[in-house]
Amino acid sequence: MIEVRALSKRYGDILAVDQVSFTVETGEVLGFLGPNGAGKSTTMKMIAGFLAPTSGSARVCGFDVEEQPLEAKRRLGYLPEGAPSYGEMTPLRFLKFIADVRGLSESEGRKRIAAVIEQLHLGAVLHQPIETLSKGFRRRVGLAQAILHDPPVLILDEPTDGLDPNQKHEVRELIRSMAKDKTIIVSTHILEEVHAVCTRAIIIAKGRLLADDAPARLEARSRYHGAVSVSAEDLVAVEAALRTLPEVARVEIDATQRRVTAFPRDGKAIFEPVTRSLRERGIAFAGIELERGRLDEVFRTITTAEGVRT
Ligand code: ADP
Repeated sequence: MIEVRALSKRYGDILAVDQVSFTVETGEVLGFLGPNGAGKSTTMKMIAGFLAPTSGSARVCGFDVEEQPLEAKRRLGYLPEGAPSYGEMTPLRFLKFIADVRGLSESEGRKRIAAVIEQLHLGAVLHQPIETLSKGFRRRVGLAQAILHDPPVLILDEPTDGLDPNQKHEVRELIRSMAKDKTIIVSTHILEEVHAVCTRAIIIAKGRLLADDAPARLEARSRYHGAVSVSAEDLVAVEAALRTLPEVARVEIDATQRRVTAFPRDGKAIFEPVTRSLRERGIAFAGIELERGRLDEVFRTITTAEGVRT
């Protein structure tokens, strides 16, 4: 549904996007991750047909966004970063305008506008100029225009930016509910969002694609994958107990978090032996957790200087 081939964008001396290639299928929610300035927005603008690539190509539902822009854009909803243009319009006028631009019939337009007002809870602000709305409402008006024509492909640049936790939760639910029959790309720098909505994640830094995998498999690259962390008062006693286990390769104490982490030897399962050892020695602990891996650590490793191939 989305096919990106060797896409590059140069701004003068800056190579903002460098030979990026990937495909996304129906039912996938692809998380687009990377530090600020990584090239996420630039890549999304090129797929959405709002910016011409320096080289390479992007296709939406089989249509090349440069050669068949109308066919591609008809099938695509795009939420740009920041606030919607036309700030002096009210949300209702703006959505009517978008319905016209999208070529929806009068009755279809009315139906879809009512649907997105409901989905994004815009009822209370319909007649207030967009530029006077809070950031959260402006973001939701932007989302409403992106999904107005119910396109099969959605490209959403930081859709939860500026929303409070409840609104973030609602927008994530909305994305998840739309996911099964659509193809969605969501850019974010919030790693919890990847868990919440994405079936797959791409990490880019300095314009280059550095990883493309399921969130759980990215976590499995973490040095914490399979480790067991114990929260306790007596960290020294916990450390002593875990250190003696043959299945444990290494033990680390985190004094600030009041936590001891044991790392498995050769990928061995250590949750059982760790729990047993603590019980046998009568050591009290407040919590014990088998780590899936820490996405923030993987992200940092991949995107910091050591991780970026130069
Ligand atoms: P991200 O969305 O990951 O934060 P961007 O795609 O916005 O990253 O930017 C990628 C790089 O391209 C950055 O170095 C940014 O400064 C540069 N850039 C983006 N837009 C322009 C522009 N219009 N002119 C010049 N440089 C730009």
